[in-house]
Amino acid sequence: MRVTWSGGGNLSFRLDPEDEITGKASDEYPIKLAINSCSVGGVPDDAHPDLFAVAAWTIVAPWTRRRILFDRAVSAELAQVLHEGWGVEAGPVGAEPRRAGARLAISYSGGADSVAAATMYPDAPFVHFRRVAHSRVPNRWPHYRSDVLAKLAAKTGRELSTVTSDLEYTLAEPRPGYPEHHAVAAGALLLADQLDLGGLGFGYELGSRWLGGGRYLWRFTPDNPMWSPHGRWGRLFAAAGLHIVLPVGGVSEAVTMRLALNSPMKAQVRWCLRGTDGPCRTCGKCLYKELIQAAVERRPLDTPITADRPQARKYLKKPPYGGQEMIQYGLARVPGIENTLFGPVLDYFDVSEESTNWLEHCYPPALDEIPPEWRAEAAAFVDANAGLMSEDEVRRVESWGD
Ligand SMILES: [Zn+2]
Repeated sequence: MRVTWSGGGNLSFRLDPEDEITGKASDEYPIKLAINSCSVGGVPDDAHPDLFAVAAWTIVAPWTRRRILFDRAVSAELAQVLHEGWGVEAGPVGAEPRRAGARLAISYSGGADSVAAATMYPDAPFVHFRRVAHSRVPNRWPHYRSDVLAKLAAKTGRELSTVTSDLEYTLAEPRPGYPEHHAVAAGALLLADQLDLGGLGFGYELGSRWLGGGRYLWRFTPDNPMWSPHGRWGRLFAAAGLHIVLPVGGVSEAVTMRLALNSPMKAQVRWCLRGTDGPCRTCGKCLYKELIQAAVERRPLDTPITADRPQARKYLKKPPYGGQEMIQYGLARVPGIENTLFGPVLDYFDVSEESTNWLEHCYPPALDEIPPEWRAEAAAFVDANAGLMSEDEVRRVESWGD
């Protein structure tokens, strides 16, 4: 693989003979390459070469098999992490490592998890990734309203850098998206020198970090390769002087929902990519988040989606489900859930408020993973707003999927 950055944020890459246009993201999800160029707008062109290298790697890692040649020399430390983590030879080598900056920024999407992470650090600047069309790939997903999300981010009153990018269109399958989840940080990486960043906070919560949620595995994942500090991505970002920080990595989506709905940014919370004036209420994400919100607010489910709709169909099948811990939480707490489309799911689980109480508290090792300079603020916030898990509750996390 050969990568070239030109004019600041224009990336093009050329595959070597051993590279392939099919691959897997770090969560093992199969993906296919569409095109070998993309751009990241709103970034300076003089960032440290290791930042350019990591930003490129978030986009080309799934296709690269043996070696990667950057257009500017990277540090030996970064090349070593690429070798140990992915088995690739990286070069040329010759730069001094980047020194971590002093500030923590939040990779801000506007969703409840992201807002909750932001609420923990009231002074942290935001970097918002905004999808724009690719000049050479037709946009078959016009319902994705990134413009609405960007406007909401601007209304939060925070220091905000919005980066625009078409990098998601480098994916042909399953649909436009991040080649690696970390590609959402491409803009933040390139801004890290300018903003003096030493850490980047993501909204990944307990399920994503510790329970193998999302597209991943449904078991306890202390060595999560994407989000653990000692995993290959954690080490790579750290080598570039930008630590991956998960402020809400120890709490569930019930807690992040509660924090977001009680935060000063409540009016800007938006997890749905489709609605303009508000969430669309009809997509699968809206259904899942409505279940959580209804559980947090202790009220009946309010959704126009009926059991015969495609968005509901996955709950007619046997578990596991994505976000299964939150499905259980909702089943235990939403009044009248037995009379909703989730009714049949009750047959698969024996849930109660008591058995889902662990999802109200913070898993302590998640705080230990936050770099020392930002840990005390997170710990104080958790103490005041959620509390730590008991030993029994910790065991619920660590036996998840057994
Ligand atoms: Zn929606």
